[in-house]
Amino acid sequence: MVGSVDRETDILIIGGGPGGLACAQELARAGREVLLLERKAEIGPKVCAGGITWSGLLQHVPEQLIQQAFPCQHIRTPEQHAQVRADQPIIATVDRRELGQWMAAEAEAAGARLLAGTRVRSIAADHLLARTGEQETCTIGFRQLIGADGANSLVRRSLGLSSRLMGVGLNANLPLVREQMEWHLNPALFRHGYAWIFPHGRTLSIGAYVDRAAMPLARLKANLISWARQQQITIPPEQLRAGLVNYDYQGHHFANRWLVGEAAGLASGLTGEGIYPAIVSGRAVARLILDKTYPADELTRMIRKQHRHHRVIAWAGRTPRLCGLLMNLLVLLLRIKVLDFRMLEMAD
Ligand SMILES: Cc1cc2nc3c(=O)[nH]c(=O)nc-3n(C[C@H](O)[C@H](O)[C@H](O)COP(=O)(O)OP(=O)(O)OC[C@H]3O[C@@H](n4cnc5c(N)ncnc54)[C@H](O)[C@@H]3O)c2cc1C
Repeated sequence: MVGSVDRETDILIIGGGPGGLACAQELARAGREVLLLERKAEIGPKVCAGGITWSGLLQHVPEQLIQQAFPCQHIRTPEQHAQVRADQPIIATVDRRELGQWMAAEAEAAGARLLAGTRVRSIAADHLLARTGEQETCTIGFRQLIGADGANSLVRRSLGLSSRLMGVGLNANLPLVREQMEWHLNPALFRHGYAWIFPHGRTLSIGAYVDRAAMPLARLKANLISWARQQQITIPPEQLRAGLVNYDYQGHHFANRWLVGEAAGLASGLTGEGIYPAIVSGRAVARLILDKTYPADELTRMIRKQHRHHRVIAWAGRTPRLCGLLMNLLVLLLRIKVLDFRMLEMAD
């Protein structure tokens, strides 16, 4: 190691999103020394629609985190409307701040140390430079480094990995009450992406997601605002927040560096779902660090699911006409119950 080190730790995690927090909890619970650095002053808040699925996370978070739960999903194209029903909620909504705070408390209770307001500036082989809120720079040494730093991951870039497969999402949280959870597939406006209305109790999340290669952000924004108007919802443009979704998975283990969640490109390119993949990969990487022979079957299954989503994107991205046909076929198959809604989810 070069120069003086202010602090040393066995395992250093960059990023306090669901991936980093899940990983920190699992490692700390096994008695390992874990330090997690988060650049934001507060752990949790993130541009997100806050949708979690029954087969994924919904059954594993405390009830008080659930803002609204939906046993019925409404999926629309300009031509048709499918209603998918189940006995239990298919999707529920959570507030990302509350989810993050709960996961942070669980990780700390397990023994992990979390430092918010600390941004990592550069990474070397066995140490990094981080800056705290007071603009002080410190050097932290590590044996293992985990990049859980999201779609624009510094750890990923330090490994020289590209991020070609990216989605982009726009979201606004508005003080409006709605009962239905809605997905709108409209290739003329959103290509092979979609727009959503996800109620959160006394507010709702409204937004749209597309493949970054399919449409410039300014066009997506204009299309979303005019589509929302047709739904009798006015989105003040300044309320819209944009975020990237990295689905370019190229591996998760590189000598003493690991990637989890979106830093690893583990989100769905089709739907933009990334909370559950971040948690699954965070836990799997922790287990692999604890036991090199851990089979990580859950990670393998999720990567397989992600590839299936890639194939749908590749077909739908060929021509606008094919995209329209595929979207309508998808909704028809959901409507007549030939296709299970879970095919669109990242969980099994
Ligand atoms: C508009 C939109 C809507 C979405 N809706 C949903 C949804 O409904 N359901 C769903 O499952 N997914 C959704 N997603 C995706 C989901 O938000 C992400 O996939 C998920 O948060 C990824 O978790 P993560 O832990 O990998 O990364 P993140 O949650 O992005 O966490 C990374 C953390 O690292 C921190 N960080 C980054 N760089 C540094 C640094 N240099 N130093 C220190 N800290 C750093 C960041 O501040 C951040 O807190 C949506 C995404 C977008 C853009």
